[in-house]
Amino acid sequence: MIKETALGLGAALIVILIQQGYNVMPWFFMVGLGFVLYYLIGSKGLNKNFSMTDNSNKKVERINFEGIGGHASAKKELLEALEFICNPHHVMEMGIRPLKGILLVGPPGTGKTLLAKAAASYTGSVFLTASGSEFIEVYAGVGAQRVRQIFNQARDKAKKENKNSAIIFIDEIEILGGKRGTHGSHLEYDQTLNQLLVEMDGINYHEEIKVLVVGATNRSELLDPALVRPGRFDRIVNIDLPDLEGREQILNLHIRNKPLDADVDIKVVARETFGFSGAHLENVANEAAILAMREKRELIKQKDFLEAVDKVMMGEKMDRKPDKEEIWRIAVHETGHAIISEFVRPGSVSSVTTSSRGKALGYMRQSPDREFHLYTRDYLEGQICILLGGSVAEEEILGSKSTGSSSDFQQIIDLSKKLISSGLSPLGVVSLNDIPPDILHEVITKTIEKEEARVKEIIGCYKKFIIEVAQHLIAREKISGEKFRQTLQKYKKRVKISS
Ligand code: ATP
Repeated sequence: MIKETALGLGAALIVILIQQGYNVMPWFFMVGLGFVLYYLIGSKGLNKNFSMTDNSNKKVERINFEGIGGHASAKKELLEALEFICNPHHVMEMGIRPLKGILLVGPPGTGKTLLAKAAASYTGSVFLTASGSEFIEVYAGVGAQRVRQIFNQARDKAKKENKNSAIIFIDEIEILGGKRGTHGSHLEYDQTLNQLLVEMDGINYHEEIKVLVVGATNRSELLDPALVRPGRFDRIVNIDLPDLEGREQILNLHIRNKPLDADVDIKVVARETFGFSGAHLENVANEAAILAMREKRELIKQKDFLEAVDKVMMGEKMDRKPDKEEIWRIAVHETGHAIISEFVRPGSVSSVTTSSRGKALGYMRQSPDREFHLYTRDYLEGQICILLGGSVAEEEILGSKSTGSSSDFQQIIDLSKKLISSGLSPLGVVSLNDIPPDILHEVITKTIEKEEARVKEIIGCYKKFIIEVAQHLIAREKISGEKFRQTLQKYKKRVKISS
């Protein structure tokens, strides 16, 4: 109302001044300049009332630890750390120094935000969230002011809602808490981090409102040592990619609201999704439902889940249609990978396909029989063989190799270097950096030649089998691991190889 009246009066004044013969242009110019300055400095910069996303609403309350799959040890660590909010007297009696900060470290999409939200609902705290990038501005001092504001906002909000604790969640904390002196405009970065340290030091055990800072990052090595020293972020919780059991739990959480056909076996889907994060798994469940809806079905079938796994792993099916000769080469190449995979690790082929997704023109998908945390020389050499299978099959059956193997070769080089750096090569225990390039090249070449001989022998004996599977792929685009193994079994009875 006041705004409208002021605008009306201003317009009337301008008309009167023009009628009186005054030159109003300089005034227009001055007022315009004022507005521009207000916008740049006032609303966008220094005076901005920085408001974090306030999530202390019902939606957050619904997220609890039961709604988060896997991460059993991370949950345990977190729950222990939350004791000082839930049970402060007991913590005090035991003489335990209360935690001021918890750092969640893990790859994207593993549920760090979910865990922080669950911590807020578990402790009945208000929950405020911001990303590290929201703090940093070009003006020195703005970030520090924002840090102060967040802590004040958290305390005010808790008071208003009659709660006695607040959780401040800072995602991508490495942007705000990176090592000092490493940024271009370091005055702003340093001041912001200093302010965070000051605020964290100021968190008082006896305060009426207890504040806990939860930071999340996937680059903990970038953090300033002052931030991760005991007394600040002294509990570092690693949130890894979920294991088989974790994946099954996460999938089960995300299918709760979905209509499933009786043929759905989530254990199989969990096995097929090695290396997927929680966010990927949520996407698999979602994509499976979309695929069923596309085909106007009421229930989601197992094949929808398996197709969704391919889609999430490799990307959407592409329209590009390679010509006949290229598809034949792709079919032979992928079958080459698959047959070696079956020899190296029987039962490992999940499917082989010639449909192009994302950047791949075709692919062979493996499902590991168990999850590895350590790799032996045999394992790494086996992987090299599987990767060589594609190009060797092309050469043995089509008489030439193609550029389709370049990413396989890159992986082979990386694996060979891993063998060397782990002391598993003929060079013994050496540092990769100290090996002269010609010797490195020689060792890698010898490793590849040795494995190539093994692969050539197998492919040479199974040419007919590869051609039969490739023909199947040309006709049907895909072959399941089971069908692949059944066909291979027939041939195995006839062929005898030394390896
Ligand atoms: P980023 O590092 O990219 O911010 P994040 O680790 O914070 O990711 P979240 O935002 O917590 O990941 O998770 C993204 C989504 O993935 C969630 O909304 C949820 O649907 C799903 N999700 C991830 N992890 C889990 C889990 N452990 N249980 C259930 N769902 C999960």
